[in-house]
Amino acid sequence: MKSFYFTFILIFSGIMAFGQNNSTSDSLNIRKIYDMSLLNGKSYEWLDHLSNEIGGRLSGSFSAQQAVEYTKVELEKLGLDKVWLQPVMVPKWTRGEREFAYVQTAPGVTRNVNITALGGSIATPAGGTKAKVIEVQGLEQLKEYGREQIEGKIVFYNRPMRADHIQTFEAYGGCVDQRYSGAEEAAKYGAVGVIVRSMNLRMDDFPHTGAMSYGDTPKDKRIPAAAISTNDAQYLSGILKVQKDLELYFKMSCELHEDVESYNVIGEITGSEQPKEIMVVGGHLDSWDLGDGAHDDGAGVVQSMEVLRLFKEIGYKPKKTLRVVLFMNEENGLRGGNKYAEVAKSKNENHVFALESDAGGFTPRGFSFMATDAQFDKVLAWKNLFKPYLVHYFEQGGSGADIGPLEGGNTVLAGLRPDSQRYFDYHHAANDTFDKVNKRELELGAATMASLVYLVDKYGFNNISKETTEILD
Ligand SMILES: [Zn+2]
Repeated sequence: MKSFYFTFILIFSGIMAFGQNNSTSDSLNIRKIYDMSLLNGKSYEWLDHLSNEIGGRLSGSFSAQQAVEYTKVELEKLGLDKVWLQPVMVPKWTRGEREFAYVQTAPGVTRNVNITALGGSIATPAGGTKAKVIEVQGLEQLKEYGREQIEGKIVFYNRPMRADHIQTFEAYGGCVDQRYSGAEEAAKYGAVGVIVRSMNLRMDDFPHTGAMSYGDTPKDKRIPAAAISTNDAQYLSGILKVQKDLELYFKMSCELHEDVESYNVIGEITGSEQPKEIMVVGGHLDSWDLGDGAHDDGAGVVQSMEVLRLFKEIGYKPKKTLRVVLFMNEENGLRGGNKYAEVAKSKNENHVFALESDAGGFTPRGFSFMATDAQFDKVLAWKNLFKPYLVHYFEQGGSGADIGPLEGGNTVLAGLRPDSQRYFDYHHAANDTFDKVNKRELELGAATMASLVYLVDKYGFNNISKETTEILD
């Protein structure tokens, strides 16, 4: 390893001697970042611990607290300028006993189906809920059936994610209102419960949980909500066509408790030249409780930590302040993201850039940006530097939920965009586990993030010199 870097330094200084330009030094530094991540990375080891030693990290749980303590200690080991915990109150929801459900087609004739409570749902009555089922293809269809046909029944939301969307997040966006608002809307028509087809493009037996909200539904009008696996959604829909009066039984004992104190974990390398200009890299430390949250968002957490470690290892001292923020409670409240932005605002901090990784630990394809056209043009000038790494997706679009509250002023927000084809196979389900994350893909993602941060640090988004733009073009 040592001789490898020695050779590298020789080549590097050779180029320096022959009159190096920005583009060459940038591609060499980016090469160093990728080499370090792939040959001597730490992200996979951290993820192993987070996933296998700690496991699912639902907000307010003991394991979420363990994750706070573990990542704080690991960041301290990196020799950063500052590491601290930022207190934030988070909701605490517990699943209780494992959910149970079956479809009854005739007295005594039942078939079990795989369900899981949606995060934030109330429990069913202790004896469970049993009722006839009405299938709808979305919130819009409730109105069509009206109270007459819905009252006393379980509403079954079965609009699938569209397979023809290449960007699977679009397919998710086209369905997730059923999960988030399904119970609130169905309760208005007198439904006694809701079952939502899992947000999954694949046919399998895993139910996928996720956040839901009752909006301003009064407490006594709230109804329990669960997700059903795609295979069982298919089964239920099929059998409903021939037997409209079948009954579905489900039992859940989940519970919402008082808020509890938790933390965002923050580490910082203070900028050597413009310390008041802050760049953030982050992911969210909490996860759902069914799997171990390796893709969502253990991957983003360890990649963000790795960005700072890579800079340290290659000896790059950022000119601007670089912070890693491990946000708490993205999944069911976004309290961590909101708290971080609130504190930043109250301290009048100047965030020039924030980058989140929260789309899985898959092969990085590029980034989406929330930036002005002028800022985005500057980003596009860097695109060629990513070519050797097969990273080519640079588009305007969303960023990340946790950094969203930082929007405003001149802050450029960005999201790492990994390949998303398999993400929803695992998202919020029991199979989101460490073994589904590929070491190289994870490391490539960390290096891709670090490379972008390096360029933002060096050039910023404003006043990029004409010369640099020409070279990079
Ligand atoms: Zn996430």
